[in-house]
Amino acid sequence: MLRRQRLAGEWIEPVNEILRITEGHDELVAQEGDWKIEFIAREGGLDWLLAAIARSGAEIIAEGSRARLRLCANPHCGLFFYDNSRTRQRRWCSMAVCGNRSKVAAFARKHASARNSS
Ligand SMILES: [Zn+2]
Repeated sequence: MLRRQRLAGEWIEPVNEILRITEGHDELVAQEGDWKIEFIAREGGLDWLLAAIARSGAEIIAEGSRARLRLCANPHCGLFFYDNSRTRQRRWCSMAVCGNRSKVAAFARKHASARNSS
């Protein structure tokens, strides 16, 4: 999707297969003044977890090019994330992991070049 490629039917079928697991149901849930569709799991078993992940994936696929799908700015990471930030300029999969790593690296670079130039 990030490369704006057409999604082939054979890539979609495994998602649909998991969506057919009905270990719960969808409900409209109020969130920050908007209505969101949320998967409500049935008790017991863990298949609902997979179904909930497939549901999130399906929502992103259905959003198409409007989906705020991003690749983490850390070149060693490779994780995708959904940018639900207000500014829509989120860069990291996780501020706690890749965001901080980048800050620490930038800090180290800055100090190394300050030391070399003095
Ligand atoms: Zn990352």
